[in-house]
Formats: sequence, C-alpha cells, structure tokens
Amino acid sequence: MKGTPLIFERSCPGREGFRLGDPGVPEVDLGATLGRDFLRSELDLPEVSEVDVVRHYTALARMNFGVDDGFYPLGSCTMKYNPKINEEVAALPGFANLHPYVPEELAQGILKLLYELQAYLAEITGMDFVTLQPAAGAHGELTGMLIIKKYLEDRGEKRTRVIVPDSAHGTNPATAKECGFEVVEVKSNPDGLVDVEKLKEAVDEKTAALMLTNPNTLGLFERRIREIAAVLHERGALLYYDGANLNAIMGRSRPGDMGFDVVHLNLHKTFSTPHGSGGPGSGPVGVKAFLRDYLPVPVVDEKDGRYFLNYRLPRSIGRVRAFYGNVGVAIKAYAYIRALGAKGLREASEMAVLNANYLKKLVEDLFVVPYRGPCMHEFVVSAKNWKQNYGVRAADIAKRLLDYGYHPPTMYFPLIVEEALMIEPTETESKETLDAFAQALLDIHEEARTRPELLKEAPLSLPVRRLDEVKAARDMKLKW
Ligand SMILES: *Cc1c(COP(=O)(O)O)cnc(C)c1O
Repeated sequence: MKGTPLIFERSCPGREGFRLGDPGVPEVDLGATLGRDFLRSELDLPEVSEVDVVRHYTALARMNFGVDDGFYPLGSCTMKYNPKINEEVAALPGFANLHPYVPEELAQGILKLLYELQAYLAEITGMDFVTLQPAAGAHGELTGMLIIKKYLEDRGEKRTRVIVPDSAHGTNPATAKECGFEVVEVKSNPDGLVDVEKLKEAVDEKTAALMLTNPNTLGLFERRIREIAAVLHERGALLYYDGANLNAIMGRSRPGDMGFDVVHLNLHKTFSTPHGSGGPGSGPVGVKAFLRDYLPVPVVDEKDGRYFLNYRLPRSIGRVRAFYGNVGVAIKAYAYIRALGAKGLREASEMAVLNANYLKKLVEDLFVVPYRGPCMHEFVVSAKNWKQNYGVRAADIAKRLLDYGYHPPTMYFPLIVEEALMIEPTETESKETLDAFAQALLDIHEEARTRPELLKEAPLSLPVRRLDEVKAARDMKLKW
C-alpha cells in the first residue's frame, strides 16, 4: 500500500514489543560467556511495539492474494481450496514436534503413515513402489530421470536422448538436460495431441525416454497412450509421467495402466497443500517393480508389523533430500486421501473436469479456441482475436482480471498457442463463482472493445501497478 512505512522505518530506538518478567535467576553477561563473536551488534533490528508488528504483517497479508481470497484459475497449477482440517492434522504436536533423528521405535506412528501414503499413491497411480523424498514436481522429475538413466546404464545401454512434446512444461526439457540427455522435441498434431507417426520417426536405439503428461498441458487426454507406450517399449525406451495433471483423472484412470514406467506427483497440486510463492511442496515418485532398487534411500518399509527406514536398495541413486521429504505435506495428503476415500477422489476429479467444461462453454465464444471438443480439468484459449481487433494482449486481460478480484489464468503457456490463456477452475469452485468469472471476462471484453487503453493500464486498484517483470527477476533487491 502506498505510504505504508517499512517495519524498519517504524523503528524507534528503545521501543519494546515485549518485556520479559523477572526471570528469578541472576543475569549473565552473554558476551563474556559465549565470546563477543556470538553477539552480533551489527544487526539493525527494528525496535517496535507489538501493535506495529501486527499492523506490519496485516498490511503485508492484504497485499497478497491466495485461494482463500478468491478464485485462482491458474492453469496447470491446480490452485484448489485446501480443507483447513488437513493443516490441523499436520500441526498435531505428535507430528509437528517429532525430531527427524528420533529412534524408529519411537516413531512408529509417522512411519506407518508414510508407509501407507506410499501405498495409497502407488494404488492411485498404478505403480508398484513410491518414494516420498522429492520436494516438488521438478525435483520428482530429476529423481525419476536419474532412476531411468542409472537403469539404462546398468543394462549397458548408451541411450542419450529424451523426447518431449512441444506442449511440455519447461521443467521437462530442463530436467532431461540436467541429467545429461539431449532433448528431442516432437510436434503436436492439429488436435493438440502427440503426433504418433512423428513419434515413431523420433524414437530410435538412442532414445532413453519420452516425458509426457496426460492429460497434456492443453487439457486434452492422449487417447493413443497405449500405442505411444508400445512405440517406446518396443524400442527399449521408457515412458515418464509428469503427474502435474493427475487432478483430472485420479480415481478414474491410472498412469501405470496406461504403460508409464515412472511417475511423479505434485502433492501440493492434487493432494491438498496450499502452494504458490515457493512454499514447501512434495513430489513423490512412483516406479514399476523393475525399477524399485533404484529408488532414493531410505524408503519406508514394514516387516512383521514394525515400520522401519530401509536403506538396502542395492542400485539406489542415493539420497535426493535430507531426511524423508517434506513430511508435513505428506501428512496433509494422507489426511486428504483418507477423508475422501476412493469414491471421493474420483468425484473430485470428475467435478474438476465438469467445472472446466462448464466454464469453457461460457467463455469460448470470446476467444479463438485452438482445439475443439471437450477438455479435461483445464482448457486453453487464444486471445489473438483480441490482439487483432483491439490491440489488447493476453497479459492485459490478465492484469484487468486483478481489478475484478481474480487471480489471472496462466498466460503464454503452452508455447504452441499464440496469446494463450490457460484456465483451470478446479473442483472446489461453485457454479456461482464460475458464472461470475465468466461475466467478468464478458465485461472485460466489452471494455476491450470500447476502452482498450483501460486494459493497457490495468491493474488500477492494486497496491502496485504494472511491474517490470524482467527487471524484477533480474535485478532483485531482497534487502532493505
Ligand atoms: C507444476 C508443473 C510442474 C513442476 O512442478 P513443481 O512442483 O512446480 O516443481 C511440471 N509439469 C507440469 C505440467 C506442471 O504443471
């Protein structure tokens, strides 16, 4: 907010926010006991009262936008509402205060939970074994591709290429490259799906894997997935599943049954952890049985009713994360899965698909729709007609939506759609919310027609106007 002073500017020498009572023990000169080096006098901490602190954080919170503030249809990110009960479960003292080095005998409860979560995720994805270690989707990709790489090397195969469709999320080619593979792109066909004929030409004895998400990033289901799997497997290559879009199919169909060999999931997208701004996430990886020995150690195992950390995986790629992953996120996912059950998970994804199709119908006439037909949990429209007719770009629409109180959809992704807006309403939004959002787009369309300059200047109502996003990313000032 303009004019809101920084916490440092509120500082007033000698002002106190909290005063300790009489401790009842003699005062100790810390400098003399610990040595002067431990007392950092150069730290210029603000001296403020309690109410100053409260106002500071309340003001910051008001400048933020989260799914608890309003509709957040950020395509590919699955910004669904996350039931608060899951936060409470994860914060139970028995979980929250558990030290990661506590002996296994004293941690049977959490080990059981993690063991069962591994099993649930294996069941949901149709895989045989799961690790909970990776901290995010991209980290899961890295883990999965390192597993594939080591497996192929063990077989004495020299496979140096990884295929990704041109609609892939940027983390897919980045992961393949990071693992030392050469990235080969296959073009989508006019229906927005993998061009199987082109894929056949691209796969050879140098191909290590194809990385694919299904439904893909256009929100379309790859119906020829079995055939695609066969193309890869016949040539000795593997199929990697980017599970970021699992919210469309959970409880309905399983990547393991489609022929995928390795999958990652984004618990923070599909399984009820608030995300955005880089908060803690979790990207479990599931594999088919023939890859089990390659999983990162430890995995949680069970023998005779006793749970333990199993480090004895002979071909393990090693650790990818300290301790056992982001356990707090795993607890929330566990609570969510247990609360919904198999039927509830299926209903959630069915509702996600229904909501996306409903919203698509309401707004598609305003845009150019690059791929016809029903979508899965999200859809992509092109605003190139707005650009041609009114000189208004997808980014302008997104910025104007902020004035209407909505988080914008994902923009300019997938790269193959010009002026792309990628809209994912999720299952947790009501019909009224979807109707209101569609109305906002209709109103903005009218503004574009009559007052396009308004859209160019948006947002008009927020604490900051249009940011120089390149400068913000390249020239960060993180210190006052
Ligand atoms: C979000 C996403 C990723 C990356 O996941 P993170 O958890 O953000 O690292 C990968 N692929 C797709 C399709 C995604 O939507």
